Amino acid sequence: MSDSSSSYAPEVARTKRQDEQLSSVLLRLVKGGPEQQAVEAGEIDAVIDYSGSNVILFPAARQALRPAAAGESAYEPVANSLLAALTRREYQQLTPSLEPVTLTSGAVLHEPGEPIRFVYFPVDCVVSLLATPKGRRTVEVGLVGFDGMVGTSLALGVNVSSLRARVQIGGTALRMPQARFTRTVQESQTLRHELNLYIYSELTAARQTAVCSTFHQIEERLASRLLTTSARARSDRFYVTQESLAGVLGVRRESITQAAIGLQRRRLITYHRGNLRILNRQGLEAASCHCYGQLSV
Ligand SMILES: [Zn+2]
Repeated sequence: MSDSSSSYAPEVARTKRQDEQLSSVLLRLVKGGPEQQAVEAGEIDAVIDYSGSNVILFPAARQALRPAAAGESAYEPVANSLLAALTRREYQQLTPSLEPVTLTSGAVLHEPGEPIRFVYFPVDCVVSLLATPKGRRTVEVGLVGFDGMVGTSLALGVNVSSLRARVQIGGTALRMPQARFTRTVQESQTLRHELNLYIYSELTAARQTAVCSTFHQIEERLASRLLTTSARARSDRFYVTQESLAGVLGVRRESITQAAIGLQRRRLITYHRGNLRILNRQGLEAASCHCYGQLSV
């Protein structure tokens, strides 16, 4: 299914006929009975492709995710900064290879030592890049949102991941097969330039993470991390578990619990059953270590 759906990828210039074809393919995944009725009534936005661990959106849901002005132009950049930097011609050439996928929180996109099969351009999801030292807790060395991509090592000629890429905040991304991405990097000077800048910012953020985890206290680190996540997710509300934050910051879960209680007492955030909301952004910035600005876009 994932193979057949990839031919329906472009987010722009999609024709009504293509949408009908996509719906037809997706409907074949539905078992019938109540599920069939719910789909026909428009009550379901997506179906799960278990073979590919993806959620595939119906055309109406994809339409809802497009920028408001998408109908005004055949070329409306998708909400990912790297792709938006491409020329119109380059972007149009790429769109058949970009498959919209919905990624669930906790999903692992790449594991260390494994070949990279796809690259991902997040739209509204956030992906954590984790170092996984043997016998130690994982620690985050990068955070990817709408401003970047997962799989940058391919641009440097390395097709094996050195990190675990795990979805932190679920949402939509555009994915592209490895071979197509490698070819595009070779062909597009614009993309190479954007990737060079982005990879440099990744390196800078990784250095800052080393400083942060060595010298700063857990409560101010948590404040920084929440602000960075908010910037990447473009929202003051998001879902993130304590286990996940502990894995990201390389500390025990109890440390996250205590730090979150501290931020809640100061009325900077609310945090209940994974649902986090930033109440006072300025206050949270003041409570954070100053790494926040250097880890963000
Ligand atoms: Zn810090």
